[in-house]
Amino acid sequence: MWTKLQNTPRKRAPRKVAVVDPDRCFGAFACSICQAACPVEDCIVEEKDANDRWVCAVRIDKCIGCGLCVTIGNPTAPGKRDFGCPADYDAIDMVEYGDVVAAVESEVGADAPAESESATA
Ligand code: SF4
Ligand code: SF4
Repeated sequence: MWTKLQNTPRKRAPRKVAVVDPDRCFGAFACSICQAACPVEDCIVEEKDANDRWVCAVRIDKCIGCGLCVTIGNPTAPGKRDFGCPADYDAIDMVEYGDVVAAVESEVGADAPAESESATA
């Protein structure tokens, strides 16, 4: 298990959260660089995509919007980082939090609690 700096509940939602495009993800377990980069415990999880392939997904109730998992050079992420998703895949973008919540809600139904859902594009 990776050592993480933060395992306390987030105080408020960030402006943007990370979203993984499962079609561009090389594959959870095979890569997992994003999980190594993320400072928040259990924020990036493994999930099966529509093709039954294990990919990484970001929990929008945990993400603090730091952008450390995003490929170096990807303009959606703020700040300096030493590494992130490999450039060959560039599978993670930072997306407005409200847009992600709306997308998840429309996918799972308005009654489902969006805060507990993970975000894949
Ligand atoms: S932006 Fe990426 S590294 Fe930062 S908390 Fe969210 S998922 Fe983790
Ligand atoms: S770093 Fe990128 S390619 Fe690797 S597992 Fe994470 S999202 Fe997938």
